[in-house]
Amino acid sequence: IQMAFLIVSIFPKLFVIGMFFFNMGKILGIIGGGQLGMMLTEAANNMKSEISNVIVLDPTKNCPASKVGAEQIVADFKDATAITDLAKKCDIITYEIESGDSQVLKSLEEVCEINPSPETLEIIQDKLVQKKFLAKNNIQVAEFSEILSKEQIESKISEFGLPVLLKTRTGAYDGRGNFKITSLGQIPEALEVFKGQSLMIEKFVDFKMEVSVIASRSTSGEIRTYPLVENIHEDNILKMTIAPARINETISKNAEEIAHKTMEVLHGAGVFGIEMFVTNDDQVLINEIAPRVHNSGHHTLQSSKTSQFEQHLRAILGLELGSTELVYNTIMYNILGPRDFTGIYKSPSIDLENTFLKMYGKLESKPQRKIGHVNLVDKDNLGTEKLLEIINTVSDSIKIIPA
Ligand code: ATP
Ligand code: MG
Repeated sequence: IQMAFLIVSIFPKLFVIGMFFFNMGKILGIIGGGQLGMMLTEAANNMKSEISNVIVLDPTKNCPASKVGAEQIVADFKDATAITDLAKKCDIITYEIESGDSQVLKSLEEVCEINPSPETLEIIQDKLVQKKFLAKNNIQVAEFSEILSKEQIESKISEFGLPVLLKTRTGAYDGRGNFKITSLGQIPEALEVFKGQSLMIEKFVDFKMEVSVIASRSTSGEIRTYPLVENIHEDNILKMTIAPARINETISKNAEEIAHKTMEVLHGAGVFGIEMFVTNDDQVLINEIAPRVHNSGHHTLQSSKTSQFEQHLRAILGLELGSTELVYNTIMYNILGPRDFTGIYKSPSIDLENTFLKMYGKLESKPQRKIGHVNLVDKDNLGTEKLLEIINTVSDSIKIIPA
């Protein structure tokens, strides 16, 4: 009996000592160390027993993620040697941007676990391939076509009608790869702007609302979606997200089901941002998918039990997914660099109840650069319209000025 007692009392201590010597957490690699990489790193910092260390690959020295404790490999996202180096150092790789080299990543799947899968990344990286994939899986998108010549644009305009959007197939963000053609005379200009790039065309959707669903799938196949949110863009850049979307329940349930179905056909694990349009006749079309945490999911940091960042890590680690319930209605407002100023700025502050300011630690402000966001959380049940009034005051008080 004494022996048994001795073993039982010593075992937990040995276990703790063992944990100390053999850190059992995994080393996480992230391609990209901007604000999304930073918030993923912060989530990882709270999961020390699962993730012992984070290494990001990013071309900008002292990137946002490095400021919250991630180690950094300074290199281009497509640098094959650097990606290989990252894979050798890590147990698991994920991304915060979609421009990593999917071919290199595919070749490294033997060396290191990679999620979402490089195969899915490859589909998503090319907007034409992505749209074909969705259409093939009976998920509704705007009418689209590949474009190889000026004549094809003319022929598609006669089929779709004006306006149309000419889009670059790869590498676009914040609408920089989109050209809205409103008359036949604009075609040469549009082709000149995108010279040398592969292109596609889309019918212009006359939408009444832009919405998105943050969806997650874990390595075990479990799928969970956050409630539908509404996105307000200004000059193609997300200005704010209203959670939940101000739309009837039939539409939001439909959009959430579409997101669920999309997750079923995509391979790999992680959080995906699914951008959609609600048309004037209440159809829901997918605009595009981001194979990563998404700007329209930042509200989850305060509105939900599980943030999208923690959820992404849970998904790729194969842990049970967290609750996606929206506990508080919330508005997320992006802080963008002023148009007329480039340079070092004074970090703003705000002292207002239920208002959470998050700056990304970027040294320089540039016109329209995302440098932070604010979440305004409706803990007092004021209602969305009142929150929208308050957010105006909030945005006025967060002025970005030179340091
Ligand atoms: P981002 O990085 O902002 O997500 P992006 O540069 O990859 O975007 P898209 O998401 O394709 O570009 O388009 C940017 C915005 O342009 C959309 O949020 C939407 O407002 C508008 N847009 C895109 N496609 C269409 C379309 N077919 N019809 C109408 N508007 C569109
Ligand atoms: Mg988009």
